[in-house]
Amino acid sequence: MEPIRSPRGANLTARSWPQEAAMRMLRNNLDPDVAERPADLVVYGGTGKAARDWPSYHGLIRTLTTLADDETMLVQSGRPVGVFRTHEWAPRVLIANSHLVPDWATWPEFRRLEKLGLTMYGQMTAGSWIYIGTQGILQGTYETFAAIAAKRFGGSLAGTLTLTAGCGGMGGAQPLAVTMNGGTCLIIDVDAHRLARRVETRYLDTVADSLDEAIDLALAAKRERRALSVGVVGNAAVLVPDLLERGVPVDIVTDQTSAHDPLSYVPTGVEPADAPDYAAKKPEEFTDRARASMARHVAAMVGFMDAGAEVFDYGNSIRGEAQLGGYERAFAFPGFVPAYIRPLFCEGRGPFRWAALSGDPADIAKTDAAILDLFPENESLARWIRMAGERVAFQGLPARICWLGYGERDRAGVRFNDMVTSGELSAPIVIGRDHLDCGSVASPYRETESMADGSDAIADWPLLNALVNTASGASWVSIHHGGGVGIGRSIHAGQVCVADGTPIARQKIERVLTNDPGMGVIRHVDAGYEIAEAVAETAGVRIPMREGSS
Ligand code: NAD
Repeated sequence: MEPIRSPRGANLTARSWPQEAAMRMLRNNLDPDVAERPADLVVYGGTGKAARDWPSYHGLIRTLTTLADDETMLVQSGRPVGVFRTHEWAPRVLIANSHLVPDWATWPEFRRLEKLGLTMYGQMTAGSWIYIGTQGILQGTYETFAAIAAKRFGGSLAGTLTLTAGCGGMGGAQPLAVTMNGGTCLIIDVDAHRLARRVETRYLDTVADSLDEAIDLALAAKRERRALSVGVVGNAAVLVPDLLERGVPVDIVTDQTSAHDPLSYVPTGVEPADAPDYAAKKPEEFTDRARASMARHVAAMVGFMDAGAEVFDYGNSIRGEAQLGGYERAFAFPGFVPAYIRPLFCEGRGPFRWAALSGDPADIAKTDAAILDLFPENESLARWIRMAGERVAFQGLPARICWLGYGERDRAGVRFNDMVTSGELSAPIVIGRDHLDCGSVASPYRETESMADGSDAIADWPLLNALVNTASGASWVSIHHGGGVGIGRSIHAGQVCVADGTPIARQKIERVLTNDPGMGVIRHVDAGYEIAEAVAETAGVRIPMREGSS
């Protein structure tokens, strides 16, 4: 089969840009430079897919190319199931992925239905067609390590060693995020190809031939306060305990193996090449072995914590799985959101991203300059945009991400639309975000862990988020179940707007990119966070229960 790539340039094959954009972004998600396993429609994150099966994929493309400007296509877990007449302000696509009624929301039931061809796992941006490759997570990871540097190491990771595992679609951002913060990183992956791929795309500096060599390289760099990332092939459930036993002086420990899905975490004693077949044939046995391995892996992480390292769960549910594997102290270390990210969420800050439908990197360079011009006072944003321009290799359509807050995202979106109107940009820009955002997710092991009012598992918020984005004029809106942390553990929503330079797009963008981060502000005001209250007050966000009664 011919590799799938997004069309580039300013010529339409669909009837208008919003439909064209959805078609291009679906194809872009499956570009071999973007997706982890495009032949299986898998984009990233274990089995996160862009379409349920090949007939569904072709049905999606066919429908998007014929869809009218007052029609909306409905997508049920990766399959187009209907087209209805709506109106110009309505989204062109509405997506629901992986949902199950709560009592049925378990991996075995999900897999049974998946095998019958009735559902698919949408992860976050895989099934909602706004994945932009590893860069998408790079900025969030960069921010997290910057926050750790500020909290524990005087503002820089120079002279520190970070130990982590999992160098896949998302986890592959870790080594570059650490070196961008000046630190040394040792990253383990059971699959040599994953490490080699990150070296090719410059996310990882080198792969050592053995654990001994990896330790020598990493410790020399730490001593010399040199930014360096070193990969080593092996099973984390073996190597992390080994490193602890050897007393290697590690400062920070985390993990991004695909632990959220025990059929994607390779148990000790299993060759990675044999894992998919074994998992498919004996899922229960595989799950037990994976959980037992995760228990050993997490026990070693706790060992590093006891020895004084900064240890955190990086949103892959490894603590929950290790607990199911019988390890009692699994939750001894925190998740990264309560530890470092929540104050940003209170300001409506989150992962704003965009892609150039022209395919021309010059368009992204121009939008980078626009961001620097719009927010001159934000130094860390400027540092990121400059470093990203120099060091990030594009995958698929050229794209950029940066974290922007309430009152900022709408300004950036409107500016991009104006740049399309004026012809400064050679084709429209697609603007979206990760579902991992301030007001779009309920995920008690991750984004909503340890909320101040205990509302961790309340899932009304992401549903309201999708509804308000639909009402505000987003181009496509999605609600998903189970992304990031796995089936039964999260509900989340996404939106994408298309800046095609038209006046109506300008109005839609202004509303969506105000209301979407506004959800983060009101969600955190409701939970009692003072930072959010201050933002709401200054920006005039209306919160009925605070408007007093008369
Ligand atoms: P992926 O499937 O692309 O990569 C997972 C990697 O883990 C693979 O390279 C695999 O070889 C490796 N691996 C599996 N078992 C291993 C073992 N025992 N030892 C060493 N390596 C092993 O997944 P991804 O997209 O990189 O996501 C990784 C995890 O991070 C997922 O659980 C995902 O949900 C989570 N995630 C977190 C965030 C966040 O913001 N913190 C964002 C996205 C994803």
